[in-house]
Amino acid sequence: MPKSIEEKRAAKAAYQREWTKRNPEKWQAIANKARKKWRATNFERDCEINRSLRYIVRREVLDLLGGQKCAHCGYDADWRALQIDHIHGGGSKDSKTSGGNTNLWAMRNWLKKNPDGWQGTYQVLCANCNRIKVFENGEHSAGYTVSKRMEIGER
Ligand SMILES: [Zn+2]
Repeated sequence: MPKSIEEKRAAKAAYQREWTKRNPEKWQAIANKARKKWRATNFERDCEINRSLRYIVRREVLDLLGGQKCAHCGYDADWRALQIDHIHGGGSKDSKTSGGNTNLWAMRNWLKKNPDGWQGTYQVLCANCNRIKVFENGEHSAGYTVSKRMEIGER
């Protein structure tokens, strides 16, 4: 009995799934090439997708760090004003998360593997609290004493 078009399609799809499983390297090469080609012709769209992915991951990281809320003042009105703070400073040189708190993807994966590992190392702060903390702890590199005096109005 001849197969229907649907049956043929299903059989072909099943065969392709099987093939990609058996040939992961070859499949990767094909997929990468297709992705590259798509990116080249859909540059704007690709940027947009990356941006929204970044936002999703960022919110996920905030959730993993105890929630989308400032640990200092409790601000939670807009997640875009929330920042990931390295409690003892030096966020860019953190070996634990392999990439520090600038690589959100690495950080998310690390947090998923170490759901409590961030305690005492990271916290979620709103932009205001984070900025104030930077000044109070002298976490920026140069001209700290001068700018601190100016900030708080001492003459
Ligand atoms: Zn705050």
